[in-house]
Amino acid sequence: MKTMKKYSLKCPYCGSPAVCRPASTVYGADTIDRKSYLYICSRWPACDAYVSAHKRDRRPMGTMADRRLRRKRIQAHEALKRLQKERHMDKWAAYVWLQAKLGLDESQAHIGMFSEQMCEQVISLCRSPVRPGGGMAA
Ligand SMILES: [Zn+2]
Repeated sequence: MKTMKKYSLKCPYCGSPAVCRPASTVYGADTIDRKSYLYICSRWPACDAYVSAHKRDRRPMGTMADRRLRRKRIQAHEALKRLQKERHMDKWAAYVWLQAKLGLDESQAHIGMFSEQMCEQVISLCRSPVRPGGGMAA
């Protein structure tokens, strides 16, 4: 059997191979974008791990995550977005800030690749008080 799959992912939770399937497989009637795809653990729904794929080339958007980790990543994204708003930063500037805070380079600083622990770190970093004026504390 020939497959069009270019990216082969293994589920980090159970070690089963992931399959690229329409997002509606998981979201059902709640699917927002019918053309979107997910990499889903082949043991789904017994194993609840998946990750979104880029629409153009179906490259995975990060590492596969279960429900807990997905929730954490959403929270981390929201925290970063809030910080970006509060400090009137562009999206790239917020990521540069995050890279510096976490000591990561550009290729590593993607919330879609973060573990629960790293998401927690992002959330608490974003919560740290903002100094008005942005200058150094006297
Ligand atoms: Zn799995």
